[in-house]
Amino acid sequence: MSDDAFFPEGTLVAVLTCEPLDRTLDYKAPEGGVFRGAFVEVPLGPRKVLGCVWGAGIGGFDLSKARSISSVLDLAPMRDEMHLFLEKVAAYTLTPMPAMLRLATRAPGLMNPPGMRKVFRRGTGLPPRETEARKRVLDTLDEYGGLSFTLKELADTAGVTASVVKGLIPSGAVIEEDTPRDLPFRRLDATAEGKELTDAQSEAARALREAVAAERYSTTLLKGVTGSGKTEVYLEAVAECLAHGRQALVLLPEIALTAEFLTRFEARFGARPAEWHSGVTMTERRRVWKMVGTGGAQVVIGARSALYLPFQNLGLIVVDEEHDQSYKQEDGVHYNARDMAVLRASLCSAAVVLASATPSLETWANVEVGKYRRLDLESRYGPAVMPDMHALDMRDERLPATQFISEALANAVRKRIGLGEQSLLFLNRRGYAPVTICRACGFQIGCDHCDARMVEHRFLKRLVCHQCGETKPMPKACPSCGVEGRLAPVGPGVERLAEEVKERFPEAKVAVLSSDLFASARALKEQIRLIAEGDTEIIIGTQLVAKGHNFPNLTLVGVIDADLGLQGSDLRAAERTFQLMRQVAGRAGRSEKKGVALLQTYQPEHPVIRAILSGDEEGFWRAEAAERKMAGVPPYGRMAGIVLSGPDLAVVSDVANQLARVAGPLQRIGAQLFGPAPAPIARVRGRHRIRLLVKAEKTASIQAALADWTRQVKLPNNVRLQIDIDPQSFW
Ligand code: ADP
Ligand code: ZN
Repeated sequence: MSDDAFFPEGTLVAVLTCEPLDRTLDYKAPEGGVFRGAFVEVPLGPRKVLGCVWGAGIGGFDLSKARSISSVLDLAPMRDEMHLFLEKVAAYTLTPMPAMLRLATRAPGLMNPPGMRKVFRRGTGLPPRETEARKRVLDTLDEYGGLSFTLKELADTAGVTASVVKGLIPSGAVIEEDTPRDLPFRRLDATAEGKELTDAQSEAARALREAVAAERYSTTLLKGVTGSGKTEVYLEAVAECLAHGRQALVLLPEIALTAEFLTRFEARFGARPAEWHSGVTMTERRRVWKMVGTGGAQVVIGARSALYLPFQNLGLIVVDEEHDQSYKQEDGVHYNARDMAVLRASLCSAAVVLASATPSLETWANVEVGKYRRLDLESRYGPAVMPDMHALDMRDERLPATQFISEALANAVRKRIGLGEQSLLFLNRRGYAPVTICRACGFQIGCDHCDARMVEHRFLKRLVCHQCGETKPMPKACPSCGVEGRLAPVGPGVERLAEEVKERFPEAKVAVLSSDLFASARALKEQIRLIAEGDTEIIIGTQLVAKGHNFPNLTLVGVIDADLGLQGSDLRAAERTFQLMRQVAGRAGRSEKKGVALLQTYQPEHPVIRAILSGDEEGFWRAEAAERKMAGVPPYGRMAGIVLSGPDLAVVSDVANQLARVAGPLQRIGAQLFGPAPAPIARVRGRHRIRLLVKAEKTASIQAALADWTRQVKLPNNVRLQIDIDPQSFW
């Protein structure tokens, strides 16, 4: 740290807070002075808020009015690299700094002094009287060696009441102690051997180990079909990172994935990593945040926001399933965790591994120009091979409108049941039916607040708007014409598909995997585990099943509607369909038995469907890249989506038109402006939405131009302007 990073008592320092202000606030350094990066508590009006010392104070006001920092918190100070990272993300995504600090301090109770809690461990004393329950407590403690338990943990594990545990304290058989609430995570064993790797795997593992050992920034794409051992290989990179005494971060797209991953991780390193995602309790979040900052957590596995944890010495970031859409944060700060991982690593001399069977076109293009290195795992581990893929031409099937499984697909499922193997029927649509129509007047039931149709969910016994979450009961009579008994479902969701499966295969054991059918992540994990053990004969699933789970007995994948993703104007529609179909198909035949994937389609000659079937990946990517280059869209050009929204359409339109009239700053960088136009979903939660789209050359500094441009128009109070750099979805 440079000399000017220390501020003696009484000097003016700039403090960044999470309050929605467009600047830092000046305070006087407290007694003992303060370093840049220190987390502090500062008075703000009548409140005390969390802040971070950002640099020298700006001044320009009467110094005697400046208030002092209330206290310096007992937290690891923000490192310069994190400071820089937050500023760069803010500049890239046009996000105000307070929102960035909020992202970087998303753990409760950081302002509280470190809490203590009571724990219990084995003492040398003997219980005065041996009872069955007391014996269970002592056996439990013996079984776990010298480990300490909380009262609840110990009582639950031993299957006794809390009073049994407490009854053992006077004799010294059990010792009660105070320990800090936030304990370090168990040390990981970096030296333990992993699985024996195949030649191709060892080759890739060696390259990744070298990249990590260099302790320099690098990004490597690790490409390999599902089941080729990518996870096995990047765990080697994690081991190397640990051996260098540095921390590692593994980003995963889906909470449901972590159960399987944690088990594997523990088997490999002898203990669990720290976890950071929405399923983690608040107290555990605080523990992770603090331990990451002090080195008490060596490896974190988590969701995208784990990028903002205060790593002390980050040496490796793995982004598993790097193409996954869920890496793009779509509310609040719009950022793509994959890209930000690369930025973060470049600032702290860390290696990045992007793992995928179906990399994003962005990554593909970065490999092409030599920015990223590429490693390939050509085949699946062991005897597993990619499934055979065939199209089922639905034009020949002439199915009634209430039936969605073709005869050919049904026969294939029947055959698998006979063989004792599993089938997966994939449909990327939650609920029972996407549309409810009145057969008397043709009215379709829509959301009252959004420009969207309500989706019937029979499991929930409600109609649900997938835009805003609004629900209502299914009406008896048509809300438009009042006729009763003529409302009918149109099209399939997974629940309706399940109904058809149960009719056609009444004997079969069926499981439906859809995020809304489970009360908790744990229930979902449990279901996945049961399926993996092989009891289920037919699995019906949304895209939840497309990701990473291992179902060894699954040999048939039937895609109910392969055309679904090809509709719509999204520039990534082809890419997504290609990835999703290949991922889903990759679920089949993951062990000895070869799998088959059958794609029901009305357009078997569509180039994307043909590319999926032929398996000519490189061909698909080249064609897709050429098309995007021609169109000048990402990754070969820059784009920004601007959405204006508000309750009054006329007011929102007016702002949009004003913006369009003052597009000078955009013209100066040669950018094109499209719109304003009503957004594809023109109303959400009662707010009207108008979109503008800005397109520019790859080299243009679009952020600065956008800032200059939007600054010119004053927004009325209830109008919101959101800017999404490189938007992933166009709604
Ligand atoms: P991917 O991440 O590419 O989908 P995984 O690493 O999950 O692949 O490997 C698929 C399966 O094969 C896992 O069950 C894994 O444990 C197993 N596997 C992969 N490589 C090996 C190996 N060298 N030795 C033993 N098992 C392996
Ligand atoms: Zn709605």
